[in-house]
Amino acid sequence: MQATIILGAGKERSPMNHHPWIFASAVVGYEGKITSGSTVTVKSDSGRFIGRAAYSPMSQIRARIWSWDENEPIDHAFFKRKIAIALAHRKKWVVQTSAIRLIFGEADGLPGLIVDQYNQTLVCQFLSAGVEFWKEAIVQILEDQTACHCIYERSDAAVREREGLSLASGVLKGELTDTELIVQENQIQYLIDPTKGHKTGFYIDQRDNRLEVAKLSSGLRVLNMFCYTGGFSLAALQGGASEVISVDSSGDALAIASRQLALNHLDPSKAKWVDEDAFDLLKKYREGGEQFDMIILDPPKFAPSAQHLLRAKKAYKEINRSAMQMLRPNGLLLTFSCSGAMDLELFDQTVFLAAQEAATHKKDPKLGFRVLKRLTSGLDHPKLSSFPEGNYLKGLMLERI
Ligand code: SAH
Repeated sequence: MQATIILGAGKERSPMNHHPWIFASAVVGYEGKITSGSTVTVKSDSGRFIGRAAYSPMSQIRARIWSWDENEPIDHAFFKRKIAIALAHRKKWVVQTSAIRLIFGEADGLPGLIVDQYNQTLVCQFLSAGVEFWKEAIVQILEDQTACHCIYERSDAAVREREGLSLASGVLKGELTDTELIVQENQIQYLIDPTKGHKTGFYIDQRDNRLEVAKLSSGLRVLNMFCYTGGFSLAALQGGASEVISVDSSGDALAIASRQLALNHLDPSKAKWVDEDAFDLLKKYREGGEQFDMIILDPPKFAPSAQHLLRAKKAYKEINRSAMQMLRPNGLLLTFSCSGAMDLELFDQTVFLAAQEAATHKKDPKLGFRVLKRLTSGLDHPKLSSFPEGNYLKGLMLERI
């Protein structure tokens, strides 16, 4: 018989509304033998069936729901169906690229699983005990359904430790013939190192926003902060920017970034790569009176969890305020937060507060901004209405007025 976990009174509300996470504090009883990653039945305190979930003994997220259907077993066929649905969605909605997120965890009904495709290579992250348990089956299904030459694992993210899983990376299927892949996205070629790059190698989630930058940057002086391998920088240069200054504290990322210019026949004299701390540099530029027509702020996750929010808010505010003070009239700020713990409302609040402070610091009451657009990740990062945490990438495009 399948093991069961029993929720405390009232704790069934959130999972019944299809939020897939069951927190440890919601569980009051356990029945049967439960092992890490195995499937458990979730019941309310009155014995009502809530769902079938993967059990995570170490994590505060004690279980993640696979299915709310009592008649749906969690077996090989279940994963085959889920993966087929995820692939069909990308086929229908995502074009103009050979770098696609094929599976985006909770949003595809597979909590903890990330699969990115770069040409004929898949790079996967197994970030929860549940997908770790089913890894072999998942890899086999991915091989069957995508016909990719190589499946590579990058389960070296710190969240694995919270699941009681060790870090792992390496080839799972086939052979990685080249550690440097060239992908094409909206007429631009990018170099990706799936073995050492951040996440699975590339920030696929910014695709639509890179295209936005390319469309807007003709003739502009652009500052790209936290540029990583220069995704936005290449887009701006291709869009006709007159100068692009790109800043990151990772020398390795910058080395990849600059090599992509020749690949795309872009003029290296228009591109400047700066290996420096973003906070120091923003201060230096601001005090030096630098001015830009477009500034992009895409910092790392300042708030990895809710307890970091206060400090994170300060950091977001500081960089936004500095950037706003350096924008020329009609200049554009594209500002992002990828902290899942920071919701849309708090992000807006923080950016708008930065705008107020920019005006007071500059002693310029006329300094104002208008929101032109909300920015988010592409359609290969679907967002569930029942799972706000999945909407982690939030952005605003502001114009100085
Ligand atoms: N905009 C990038 C992704 C940015 S990820 C893209 O579209 O590809 C965040 C980046 O910030 C990483 O490359 C990291 O090296 C860099 N970073 C983190 N802290 C930093 C700091 N204090 N100063 C400068 N760069 C920093």
